[in-house]
Amino acid sequence: MERTMRTPIIAGNWKLNKTISEAVALTTALRASVADVNGVEIIVAPPFTALAAVSDAIAGSNICLSAQDVYSEDSGAFTGEVSAPMLKDVGCDYVIIGHSERRQYFGETNESVNQKVKAALAHDLKPIICVGELLEERETGRTEAVIEDHVTGGIVGLSAAELLSCVIAYEPVWAIGTGKTATPDQAQEVHNFIRGLLAKSHSVETASQLCIQYGGSVKPENTAELMAQPDVDGALVGGASLEAESFAQIVKMAVSRQ
Ligand code: PEP
Repeated sequence: MERTMRTPIIAGNWKLNKTISEAVALTTALRASVADVNGVEIIVAPPFTALAAVSDAIAGSNICLSAQDVYSEDSGAFTGEVSAPMLKDVGCDYVIIGHSERRQYFGETNESVNQKVKAALAHDLKPIICVGELLEERETGRTEAVIEDHVTGGIVGLSAAELLSCVIAYEPVWAIGTGKTATPDQAQEVHNFIRGLLAKSHSVETASQLCIQYGGSVKPENTAELMAQPDVDGALVGGASLEAESFAQIVKMAVSRQ
């Protein structure tokens, strides 16, 4: 498949970490470290409680804001949920949808992912759609079937233009927070498979333009070899995004991928 150049996207998923003051301190340090970086989309995804403060702390910088989840309805009697218009209002450009922890602990399904993706797009938020297999699924040869299920289920009904507002994050569940990273070849194989799925569901041209991130124990030491793969367009980073220095190093390594 012919490749076009895709701007690398490096996103930090802070998960259930950082109070407001900690979040602002991390953002302030990161902002200073990446101030000179061009050609990489830099995203931070703090917990809901810190979104407003981080939004202020990144104002006028090259860092974008993401939430870690969104609800599919805009408003109403849905206690505890946060909607796409609310995330837009607080300054988000992106939202992570379908993270494996949400699939594993909070009952997220392909159907709910798809509804959330559509809600996000309707309010001009770019979804980062997470897909990935469990260790047992990889070991029993089901990786491609699971990835196909997650990808096709998550993007049901999207036009090419809508799909191009999305990012797909391939995150093998066995590599998340475990210190085990997929080898560059393993990552490339699945990224290429995902691009093939998108070529089938939409078109080769659309598939070649879409950014596919890798996630799973990304750190400064393994970023270069992962990003050197032709279909790895960025990283979704958990643990290593909680320190400004390690996240900034990962961001800077992505510059050469441009
Ligand atoms: C993640 O949760 O998206 C993730 C990739 O975490 P970690 O980098 O810590 O494995």
